[in-house]
Amino acid sequence: MKAAVLSAPNQVQLREVAAPTISQTGETIGDVEFVGVCKTDQQLTATGLEKELILGHEVVCRLPQESGHFALNNEISCGRCSYCAEGLTSHCPNLHELGVNDNGGYAEKIRAPRQSFHPFSFCNPTLGVLIEPVSCAVRGAKRILAATKLLAVTHPTIVVIGGGISGALISYLLTRSPEFKGEIYLYDITPDPIPWANNLGIQRIGKVEPDQAHGIIECSGSPNGLAIAFQAVRKSGFVCIYGVPQPELALPISAHELFMREIALITSFAGATEETMGAAIDYIRQDETFFEQSLGRSISLEQLPTELTTWNPQPGTRTVVNLGL
Ligand SMILES: [Zn+2]
Ligand SMILES: [Zn+2]
Repeated sequence: MKAAVLSAPNQVQLREVAAPTISQTGETIGDVEFVGVCKTDQQLTATGLEKELILGHEVVCRLPQESGHFALNNEISCGRCSYCAEGLTSHCPNLHELGVNDNGGYAEKIRAPRQSFHPFSFCNPTLGVLIEPVSCAVRGAKRILAATKLLAVTHPTIVVIGGGISGALISYLLTRSPEFKGEIYLYDITPDPIPWANNLGIQRIGKVEPDQAHGIIECSGSPNGLAIAFQAVRKSGFVCIYGVPQPELALPISAHELFMREIALITSFAGATEETMGAAIDYIRQDETFFEQSLGRSISLEQLPTELTTWNPQPGTRTVVNLGL
């Protein structure tokens, strides 16, 4: 089969490789239709991995002898450990992450347990690539709502840093939540328009001031975004690290200052569970028009190596690899 293989830092080649075969009972081989190109893919491409790997974790497939489209939960957990028992499958110590540490979806076929494929029915099946990122945002929004309960005010000012897809999905879920009564502002360094913010009625701010917000949601994953977050959060407020920070990045604040300013720090990572996948499918099905604007360019597998090494999506959108092109 055709696959895009990451072989070394910034080396992705389109190659003919052996198609996966079923190695354990309960597995199935999906025919890949669409894959979202995530910033995680770009970061893994830049650093390279210890072994050759097929990336791609936001995957939509067809399955043999079944009709319709299926979204992959790329996190394959053991189902036996204490974290799995608590439903925290992303924290399973035996986790296989397809497209991260095991072969993923940038190929014609992908192997996974049948139960990892979730059926969905949207007018536009390409939207299925958003199920995994929305699933992660469902968990993020839940943790952020819990953090707002610690605040002294019931109508907090929240600043979202980063107008990419993470910022869009978190903002969407908060504005749709009946529990959320605050005001959201968006800060992003790009001068380009960010359509999702307009559509949600979220105002953009050109600068973030100290003491500006009760809650800051850092969605950019950048050192600068993190530094701004801790400068701008009010005393007794919270910072949520949602964008994935680089492994070597330290917190730009001392433990003493964190204590004195009484800042609550939360993070959100573990969002690809059975429960959040189901919730994500419901959110998208109920509002396809909103999510359609998050779909960016559609590219072929042949175009993917260039896309991964010269990361340049339209602001706030997902580029999609269409295996049918
Ligand atoms: Zn992703
Ligand atoms: Zn486990």
